[in-house]
Amino acid sequence: MMWLRRLVRGLSIWWKKNKITVISGHASFKDKETISVTVADRTQQTVNTERVIIATGSKPSSIPGVVCDKKRIITSTEALSLESVPEKLIVIGGGVIGLELGSVYARLGTEVQVVEFLDRLIPGMDFSLAKEVQRILKKQGMKFFLSHAVQSATVSAKKVKVSAVNNKGVDVEFNGDYCLVAVGRKPYTENLGLENIGVTPDKQGRIPVNENLETAVPGIYAIGDVVAGSMLAHKAEEEGTFVAEKMAGQKPHINYKAIPGVLYTWPEAAGVGFTEDELKAEKYNYKAGSFPFKALGRARASMDTDGFVKVLADRETDEILGIHMVGARAADLIAEAVVALEYRASAEDIARMSHAHPTYAEAIKEAMLDATEKRSIHMWVFRKNSLKRVIAYKAKIYFLLSTNIIKIYHYGRNDKLSVSAF
Ligand SMILES: Cc1cc2nc3c(=O)[nH]c(=O)nc-3n(C[C@H](O)[C@H](O)[C@H](O)COP(=O)(O)OP(=O)(O)OC[C@H]3O[C@@H](n4cnc5c(N)ncnc54)[C@H](O)[C@@H]3O)c2cc1C
Repeated sequence: MMWLRRLVRGLSIWWKKNKITVISGHASFKDKETISVTVADRTQQTVNTERVIIATGSKPSSIPGVVCDKKRIITSTEALSLESVPEKLIVIGGGVIGLELGSVYARLGTEVQVVEFLDRLIPGMDFSLAKEVQRILKKQGMKFFLSHAVQSATVSAKKVKVSAVNNKGVDVEFNGDYCLVAVGRKPYTENLGLENIGVTPDKQGRIPVNENLETAVPGIYAIGDVVAGSMLAHKAEEEGTFVAEKMAGQKPHINYKAIPGVLYTWPEAAGVGFTEDELKAEKYNYKAGSFPFKALGRARASMDTDGFVKVLADRETDEILGIHMVGARAADLIAEAVVALEYRASAEDIARMSHAHPTYAEAIKEAMLDATEKRSIHMWVFRKNSLKRVIAYKAKIYFLLSTNIIKIYHYGRNDKLSVSAF
């Protein structure tokens, strides 16, 4: 992957330009002002510092009974570099990483079986997206086994057997060439020497921080996967910038509700803000509007008609509360939704803004129009056309049959060919 190597090489130029010194090695706190780094040749380097940002990330989790041997029972790291395309892949976990990697292999021709403990996919994203993504990926050949609790995974020769119990208490067995364990990730703080600075991770292994992302030790901050919140690269990036600006005496702010989540399957799924389940749980007085990609000119021209855009807005003030979508380019489209949320736009504000035609972004405008007193223009045309087409088609068939222009041939009870005309 030439482009990736170039990208990484480009970073070192950027570091130099910004006067950043990189020491490659494993860092560990000696005390709050001293960090010891074990470099490649096993020698130690000491770094004295006034302030530290911990950004040590996360590592894959597993579940009892499943040990990743990294050969047949693998994590996302190994799944990204398999030497050949497996015939059968079992994926434990129907979250983002399981579906993204599972769907890549499904598109390469692998028979993919996803075994998920919950009764739905992509927990955390809007339920309507989970249903639509499952429907679409099923159409692409993936198989889903929801409400199945995996008990064990065992390797024999070049095969993996996964045993699970479904919600009816029945034992179910899955066989494949590989088993990808994608049941989440946990913060990584191994051998970091946190005990030497008096920082204790919480029960989930996360480093506790205050609203300034500062740990219990003044001057030591933590960001990204190692602290609470969604494990996303752009969330880590916002937090990194936030801490740097704080240190520089500025007054930054992060709106965590406006950090989008994306599922990179094809089509993509994305969401930002409150999900409908969250609003229902809070008994919030909201309204919803939606628009299907089927009714969108650009989607029809590109033959990417799966999916929809859904908007949730305050019923009284019309303020947008959440936007969720499945469809081609959803990962890019969600940026408009983030702007809308950050600027606290109303559904009608966006509905009244011009969106270039023909684009996928028009689906957002139409969903906003739908949320604004059901004013969607093309939805109405779509529905009307669909209805018109069905009526026209039925009328045509009736006419052809009634005028004897077409006849229906069929075998009667006596196996003789009969003809019916109406
Ligand atoms: C398969 C996969 C796909 C993903 N896809 C997406 C995606 O599409 N979009 C998205 O937003 N997010 C995605 N993520 C999540 C994203 O990668 C993380 O949220 C993000 O990288 C977190 O950034 P971070 O800086 O906290 O940690 P990381 O990026 O994990 O960086 C931590 C670094 O610290 C180093 N380190 C750890 N301990 C020490 C130590 N003691 N001394 C020195 N160095 C140390 C590690 O080696 C590592 O290089 C994906 C994750 C996975 C696993």
